[in-house]
Amino acid sequence: MSDLPLHPESVVVAAGRPTAPGEPLSTPIIPAAPFRAGPGYNSYVRTDGSAGIAALEEALGALDGGTATVFASGMAATAAVVQTRPARSVLVVPTAGYWGSLSLFNAQQQLGHVELRPVDITDTDAVLAALHPADGPSADVLWLETVTNPLIGVPDLSLLIEAAHQQDVIVCVDATFTTPLNCRPLDLGADVVMHSVTKYLSGHSDLVQGVLITRSEELTTTFRGHRMLGGAVPGALECYLSLRGLRTLAVRLERQQVNAADLAGRLSEHPRIARVRYPGLPDDPGYERATRLFSGYGAMISFEVAGSAEDAAAVCDRVRLITHSTSLGGVESLVERRAMWEGDASMGVPQTLIRFSVGIENVEDLWTDLAQALGE
Ligand code: PLP
Repeated sequence: MSDLPLHPESVVVAAGRPTAPGEPLSTPIIPAAPFRAGPGYNSYVRTDGSAGIAALEEALGALDGGTATVFASGMAATAAVVQTRPARSVLVVPTAGYWGSLSLFNAQQQLGHVELRPVDITDTDAVLAALHPADGPSADVLWLETVTNPLIGVPDLSLLIEAAHQQDVIVCVDATFTTPLNCRPLDLGADVVMHSVTKYLSGHSDLVQGVLITRSEELTTTFRGHRMLGGAVPGALECYLSLRGLRTLAVRLERQQVNAADLAGRLSEHPRIARVRYPGLPDDPGYERATRLFSGYGAMISFEVAGSAEDAAAVCDRVRLITHSTSLGGVESLVERRAMWEGDASMGVPQTLIRFSVGIENVEDLWTDLAQALGE
């Protein structure tokens, strides 16, 4: 990459490209497990990586300001953090966050590997008490989400990271909802940042991938060792597609955020909407923190439909441009009533809450579709 000081909008375009004369502009797909051996050379993709993995890791590392290790999924990245902690580590984790991560933490607790202290991570006092309780040992790991999935809460990242470090607690931040363009947790002092690359970073809902980024050489070695032996090595096609998708992250996110801000405002005035959760709305509980900590408010909205679970489900059934689907962060707008999943319902997600991943479509078309789905 250029040695000029670059803004993130340029880093997404320039990072992770071959540089030698005659090389292609983008690292090609390398569909190989082993590579031909020779003097001092004998490699295999799961143990040694490949140029395709390295190119993506260079770009993702540059964006978050650390060294990236890419995994076969976001969950594989999360597993690499939890499963490499010493036995009986104490983890402070969200009571309401991404259900997959919480289920993994619970499974590890059931096996006796870790002990969990679940807290509302948007409640600063509760997190501080869990990090260092009066009647128990200090925690070992604090797991945060920059914006919680799907309640769209915003924890006070900088304050919590500083408090955790005073107790030597390792802080890992799932920054999937904010992307490195809106928040760089390593700059706030976090030890590890995790992304589901599946979402905004790759941006087209056509692959599954995850990444961990850290400034600690020791943690990078640990994560790469776990990837090698755990086997969650990213696929060649996925690496190529992720890097290709990453090139447009800045323009996609810019458009998605403009659409989201507009739609959040319109939804909050709609008579069939009981509540809108979007940190860009001045009366949202996360507004002050998001304004202080993020460069943009993101493109994830959760809104609660006035009425019953069936009323909210009917809205998801009626959308025609927007797609009723799980997942988020791609160019296409998606809605999902999250409490349809037992995991989300059990963590207190309202039955009428619809998570809305806002895409890049024309905003008037999106509003027309939402309005008709809401029964206007
Ligand atoms: N973190 C968040 C916030 C997510 O929304 C998801 C997936 O929905 C994950 C992690 C897991 O990522 P993946 O599906 O790539 O394994």
